[in-house]
Amino acid sequence: MDDFLIIGGGIAGTSAGARLAALGSVTLLEAEDALGYHASGRSAALFEQQYGLAATVALSRASAEYHGHANGGVLSPRGIMFIGSDGDEEALAADIAEIGLHRIGVDEARAMVPVLNPEVVTLAAWHEEAWDIDTDRLIQNFAREIRANGQIVTRAQVTAIRRTATGWEVDASGETYGARRLVNAAGAWVDMIARMAGIAPLGFTPKRRSMARVAAPEGHDVNRWPMVFGAGEAWYMKPDAGAVLISPADAAPVEPHDAWADDMVLATGIAGWEAHVTTPVTRMIANWAGLRTFSPDGNLVLGPSPQDPDFLWCAGQGGYGFQTAPAASQFLADLVAGTPSPLDGVTRAALDPARFG
Ligand SMILES: Cc1cc2nc3c(=O)[nH]c(=O)nc-3n(C[C@H](O)[C@H](O)[C@H](O)COP(=O)(O)OP(=O)(O)OC[C@H]3O[C@@H](n4cnc5c(N)ncnc54)[C@H](O)[C@@H]3O)c2cc1C
Repeated sequence: MDDFLIIGGGIAGTSAGARLAALGSVTLLEAEDALGYHASGRSAALFEQQYGLAATVALSRASAEYHGHANGGVLSPRGIMFIGSDGDEEALAADIAEIGLHRIGVDEARAMVPVLNPEVVTLAAWHEEAWDIDTDRLIQNFAREIRANGQIVTRAQVTAIRRTATGWEVDASGETYGARRLVNAAGAWVDMIARMAGIAPLGFTPKRRSMARVAAPEGHDVNRWPMVFGAGEAWYMKPDAGAVLISPADAAPVEPHDAWADDMVLATGIAGWEAHVTTPVTRMIANWAGLRTFSPDGNLVLGPSPQDPDFLWCAGQGGYGFQTAPAASQFLADLVAGTPSPLDGVTRAALDPARFG
C-alpha cells in the first residue's frame, strides 16, 4: 500500500505528487495515454503574477522563485500589453489596476507590435513582468520527482473508490490500487471523483476556453512580441514558436469532457485581433479548447476534506494551474506534513476546502 494515491496527471496531480513523494510513496493514476492531455496540454503557458483573485496572486508570487530557478528554470521573457479604442477607457483602466500595467503611447505600442492599426488602437498599456512557461518541462520535472519515490500509471481510468479501515482502494482499468491518502487532482472531473469516494462534491464549474494557432503576419518576426489582450480581456494573441495563438477568451460553462473549439467562437477571437491590426489572418494551423475549472468562489481548493482528512482536494486551478503549481503543491504537502506554510493566514483560509461548509 502506498502513502499517496493521486488521481489526475495534469499539472495539479504531477506537482502535488512531486511534493508528496518527499513525504512518502506515490502512485499517480491518469486515464489518458500520457500526462497533460486535457487542460494542461492546452494552456497559453503564461506566468503573470498579478492575474486572478488575491489568493491566486499570492500563490503565483510564491511560485516565482521555483519557476525562475528550480531545475534550471522554466521561464522565458514575454511581456504583456493591453490595447483598446475610444470607448474602452473604463475597461482598460480596470486591466491596468488589476495587472499593474503602465500606460504607453500608441507609437510605443507599435514599436513592439508593428501591425497594430493606429487608426483603431488609441489606448495601450504594458508591462515587462510576464513570462512564457515551458509547461512540458515543468510537468516532466515534477514527474521525475514522483518516479524517484513511486510510479505514474497512464491508461488507468478510476471507476470505483472504496474507503477501508486504513485508507483507500481504487479500481482503475482492471487493476486495484491502495493508499493511506487519496489526492483528487482530476481537473474538470474532481466532483465526479469526490462522489465516487463518498465525499460531497463542491460544485466546480468547468469553463471552455478556445484557441486558434494561426500563421504569423507575413514578413514579421513575432517571437519577441508581447502577449496582447483586447481591453477587458475581450480576446488575446500570444506569439508561439513562429506562429501566433489567438483566443476569444471564452468562458462557457460546460460538463466535464474532452473539449474542442467551436468555429464560431474561434472566429470572434480572430475578428477581435483582426479589428486592431493592419494584417489579416491568412491561415489556421490548428485549433483546440480546454476546460478551466473553477470552484464556486473562484479560488483553488487545496487540502484535506473536512469530511475525511485522508481525502485531499487539489482542485479549482481555473486559468492559473501552471503559474500557481509550485506554491499550491508545496502548500498541500505542508498541510499533510504539518509543516508551517509561508502563505499568509488569509490566503490559507481562502484555499481551505472547509470554507464551503
Ligand atoms: C486555453 C487555456 C489557456 C490557459 N492559459 C493558462 C496560462 O496562461 N497560465 C496558467 O497558469 N494556466 C492556464 N490555463 C489553465 C491551466 O491549463 C489549468 O489550470 C491546468 O491545466 C489545470 O490542471 P489540472 O491538472 O487540474 O487539470 P487537467 O490537466 O485537466 O488534468 C486532470 C487530469 O485528470 C484526469 N482524470 C480525470 N478523471 C480521471 C479518472 N476517473 N481516472 C484517472 N484520471 C482522471 C484527466 O484525464 C486529466 O488528465 C489555461 C487553460 C486553458 C484551457
